Amino acid sequence: NPFAELGLAPELLAAIGDLGYSEPTAVQQRAIPLALTQGAGNINDLMVSSQTGSGKTAAFLLPVLHTLLGMQHEAAARDKAAWDAKVAEALAKGEAAPKKPRRHNPTDPRRFKPAVPGALVLAPTRELAQQVARDAIDLVRHCRNLRIATVVGGMPYREQIAQLQNASLVVATPGRLLDLAGSGQIVLDQVRFLVVDEADRMLDLGFADALAEIHQLTAQRQQTMMFSATFAAPIQQLALRVMHEGGARVQ
Ligand code: AMP
Repeated sequence: NPFAELGLAPELLAAIGDLGYSEPTAVQQRAIPLALTQGAGNINDLMVSSQTGSGKTAAFLLPVLHTLLGMQHEAAARDKAAWDAKVAEALAKGEAAPKKPRRHNPTDPRRFKPAVPGALVLAPTRELAQQVARDAIDLVRHCRNLRIATVVGGMPYREQIAQLQNASLVVATPGRLLDLAGSGQIVLDQVRFLVVDEADRMLDLGFADALAEIHQLTAQRQQTMMFSATFAAPIQQLALRVMHEGGARVQ
């Protein structure tokens, strides 16, 4: 499987197999290895020129999901080690083994917690955000505990908050995202990956200020990817503001 050569996690390769993708498209071939380049001092911001139909959605979702999975595996290993130590300590003292805490995933709105996603994908329209979220859900079907939430205008508020419980990746339109960030339902300061999809349409629709605000709320992120059909002057200016100096450009 040519996707395996890109170094993607087995859970994602399984989903790619289910979807019947036999090889990466041109934009995937170029963008995924660059996006996965990690390491100290590595600037791995990307600006990608891409048309709808090129496979651009998977080009940003796959590296983001891959890295989220890696972070999750590490956190799970840390939790397990801490838990094993706790059990060993109790047993050494002759106490009963402690009870496992339940995972927080309430259905009762009074117990909802704010979402603290590790990755955020911004799309200009509700329809595009929903499409990206559907693609993400297809790609995480073999991943345990990697939840995707969609944050778009017009969705009933309560349903929106319920969906956000334990979400790792949020796909959002900028206005609704800022509403929920403003009311504390979603906390953006753990976002490591920010993707701006269809950046040119984003600017055409007047989201420049909202993008600037989201840029500030996610200031500690590690990676920013911008996808756009064109790289006209306003997009270049936006890129200068939101990308690290030296971000790679993928045509
Ligand atoms: P997009 O450009 O992201 O809108 O993707 C266009 C279509 O191509 C979508 O229906 C994807 O499911 C599909 N697609 C994405 N990557 C691949 C691939 N590597 N092989 C075949 N189809 C793909």
